Amino acid sequence: MSMDVMNGVVSIASLRRDLNTQAIGAELYDRIRRLYPICRSITGKGLRDTLGLIGQEIDLETREVPSGTQAFDWIVPKEWNVQDAYVKDRDGVRVVDFNASNLHVVQYSMPVRRRMTLAELRPHLFSIPERPDWIPYKTSYYRETWGFCLSHRQLQALVEDEYDVCIDSSLAEGHLTLGECVLPGREADEILFSCHACHPSLCNDNLSGVSTAVTLAKLLTRASRRYTYRFLFIPGTIGAITWLALHEQTAARIRNGLVLSCLGDRGKPTYKRSRRGLGEIDRAAVHVLGRSGDEHEIQDFSPYGYDERQYCSPGFDLPVGVLSRTPHGCFPEYHTSADNLSFMDPAKLSHSLITCLEIVEVLEGNGVYVNRNPKCEPQLGRRGLYRSAGGHGDVHAMETALLWVLNLSDGRHSLLDIAERSGLRFETVRQAADLLAEHELLTEAAAPRSDPAS
Ligand code: ZN
Repeated sequence: MSMDVMNGVVSIASLRRDLNTQAIGAELYDRIRRLYPICRSITGKGLRDTLGLIGQEIDLETREVPSGTQAFDWIVPKEWNVQDAYVKDRDGVRVVDFNASNLHVVQYSMPVRRRMTLAELRPHLFSIPERPDWIPYKTSYYRETWGFCLSHRQLQALVEDEYDVCIDSSLAEGHLTLGECVLPGREADEILFSCHACHPSLCNDNLSGVSTAVTLAKLLTRASRRYTYRFLFIPGTIGAITWLALHEQTAARIRNGLVLSCLGDRGKPTYKRSRRGLGEIDRAAVHVLGRSGDEHEIQDFSPYGYDERQYCSPGFDLPVGVLSRTPHGCFPEYHTSADNLSFMDPAKLSHSLITCLEIVEVLEGNGVYVNRNPKCEPQLGRRGLYRSAGGHGDVHAMETALLWVLNLSDGRHSLLDIAERSGLRFETVRQAADLLAEHELLTEAAAPRSDPAS
């Protein structure tokens, strides 16, 4: 396979440095705006339409997995589609209208067409009394029922009367759709980016991760890649489980990965460690956030959250962490109509994307080297590598990095080890290693890299 032909040419570092952060923020936001109106679910037309739009921007392959397919302990559910839904009052006025917001229908609602009293209808109505203007988001994937979500104000405005209730949906044998984009690198080892694309009109939880993954894939398409990159756009939980069930061999090549979600709110960045806790991805993410100087949070792994629950299940135990800003469930807008476009901040979206690129840069640039002149320091001044006293700022950091890389490059310490121990930025350590290699003072360690499964 002519992998190199398909590999990009620009270094990720130069690509990142040349980014126009404002334009990237606008691109990320605009994609969210375009995807926002679509009524997505874990199966069906909305998910397919979403993948269709993504496929106009990146090289996306979709796979249709039939309902009833066994995926470990799970079974691919029936396909759900909804055309229309409403509650009409005596005058024919839609007091709850799917066309106004797709959140109004409980996902996976069975079809209904009935005249009902308010008392009969009430058990099927859901609102948030503490947030009277917000519509909640509810699902019932694995229990056949139906319902409407509405603002508490709407609920309170309903009078004791009869209503025409209609959910024009179908729940039938069909398919679950998986989308993936693979960018081959020089090595077969993979970096995984996974995001769920199964929520309807919700921005932070769902579309911010989707949009970030698309722009990241577009950028990495142009970049010179050591690793192979795999982007998954899949329904949450069942999508990840189905993908893993169909790709056990591929999963074994995943060397590092990130689940992307909730990346556009105004909160500080949060990294949730993989189950392994101290994998390369964990250390790279902690390093990038730590050296940024910005407020951030590092969380330990827990078996609760997004699809890291599947990637980090004991039978896979993949080094996959989660990058977000405010984590799911920790912002009041979560799973409500208030997780909308105005909740998105293009500057934060852009910042999240750049954080992803910086993490990728660390993973791509990390390696173990050997000092070819280990007995006492080599004479750097003679080689033009050491400027006499008085150097400051970057010059000082580079000189310090040269000394650290020479000292710790004994075949046992990686460049990330050196960055962590020295407190220097990884980028500086990497540049120092390149400079030393140019001057034949450093060579890559011959020892095989550790098995990703170890
Ligand atoms: Zn969610």
